[in-house]
Amino acid sequence: MFSYRHAFHAGNHADVLKHTVLIAMLRHLTQKDTALTVVDTHAGAGLYRLDGDYAGTSGEAADGVLKLFAALKPAGKAAPAIAEIAPALQDYMDLVAAFNSSSQPKVYPGSPFVIQRLLREETRDKLKLFEMHPTDIKSLVANVSQLEAGRQVAVAREDGFEGLKAFLPPPARRALVLIDPSYEIKSDYAKVTASIQDSLKRFATGSYAVWYPVIPRPEAHEVPRRLKTLATQAGRPWLHATLNIGQAEERNVPGEPERGQGLTASGMFVINPPHTLKAALQLALPQMLQVLGRGRGQGQSVEAGG
Ligand code: SAM
Repeated sequence: MFSYRHAFHAGNHADVLKHTVLIAMLRHLTQKDTALTVVDTHAGAGLYRLDGDYAGTSGEAADGVLKLFAALKPAGKAAPAIAEIAPALQDYMDLVAAFNSSSQPKVYPGSPFVIQRLLREETRDKLKLFEMHPTDIKSLVANVSQLEAGRQVAVAREDGFEGLKAFLPPPARRALVLIDPSYEIKSDYAKVTASIQDSLKRFATGSYAVWYPVIPRPEAHEVPRRLKTLATQAGRPWLHATLNIGQAEERNVPGEPERGQGLTASGMFVINPPHTLKAALQLALPQMLQVLGRGRGQGQSVEAGG
């Protein structure tokens, strides 16, 4: 328990997918003039250094956000690899760039900071964060305390699956819930679906976004299937997006430590997606794949229903 540290993975392809979807959802949800409550059940540390020890050891950002910036926002006079960058992808890159002064990012915003940046003070939007790792909760509290708009944000060292219940339905009846566990314990898979089932009973019209890894485990395959069933039973629309960067051909350099393939694919399952999300992702994901795709098995998909 608690061996997972997001710092090793920050800015990888899964974060690129997850945070692009999150930003596109928030852009839409913050257009209406009513308070929005956002709950991030598995928050992590909030901010990460991409040039620090953790990120340097795993190198995952190199196949994610850093590769994206190198291709689409190259230093000097080089032209970007894609002439017309999809608005949702551009929005993601602009948000990451806002945390950095150099052209290649050194700091990566985790979901708490991605969300906080898009909340509005005037409508009294609120962000509730849950994190249980003894070290990450300290970093998260310290990072949030630096925010000027810190009053909008509440941090709890509690189980996010349990803590979520108290916030549904929210007072203004508008909510976005991000469920992004580390799945380091097998029971997380069942907890995700149980949590969505319970949340839909409490607040059927909330927007729910679940991240999951695409790995050869029956529990992982079951996540989108079960969520689709739950959404359909509740009569709610859904959207399912996946990104698979494929297998790297030449992974290991003679004389250097071996690098595994790591996680190659993940998905985001959204219940009650904004009506603009499908079209936004249908433009953004092929471009994401064009830059991040590594070879065998690569692909992307956006499917919606309900
Ligand atoms: N959402 C973050 C982001 O996008 O930047 C990354 C979160 S990371 C994948 C999952 C986090 O959940 C880890 O920091 C882990 O310590 C934390 N965690 C694990 N079990 C938890 C639980 N039951 N409740 C709250 N947090 C938990």
